[in-house]
Amino acid sequence: MKEGIHPKYQEVEARCACGNTFKTRSTKPELHLEICSACHPFFTGRQKLIDTEGRVERFTKKFGAQTSEQRKIAEKAAKATKATAAKQTRKTTTATA
Ligand SMILES: [Zn+2]
Repeated sequence: MKEGIHPKYQEVEARCACGNTFKTRSTKPELHLEICSACHPFFTGRQKLIDTEGRVERFTKKFGAQTSEQRKIAEKAAKATKATAAKQTRKTTTATA
């Protein structure tokens, strides 16, 4: 190896957001992970949303809590208002004719 061009490759502790730690080797002094084999659904077999360092919380703060059910209700409400608006326009057109 040529001297002075290679970064230091040392043993480091990788720390996951779930609290799991393990030793590995890297050129970085420390590793912070969002997900690891101890908490990823593929390895745990559980299908659940993993809040990686408060990302979900930040999203809900910014955009408000959104669930698929709430979205369906909002869609229905939008359709209903459209339908009533269409009826009203039809009524006015027949009245003028
Ligand atoms: Zn983890």
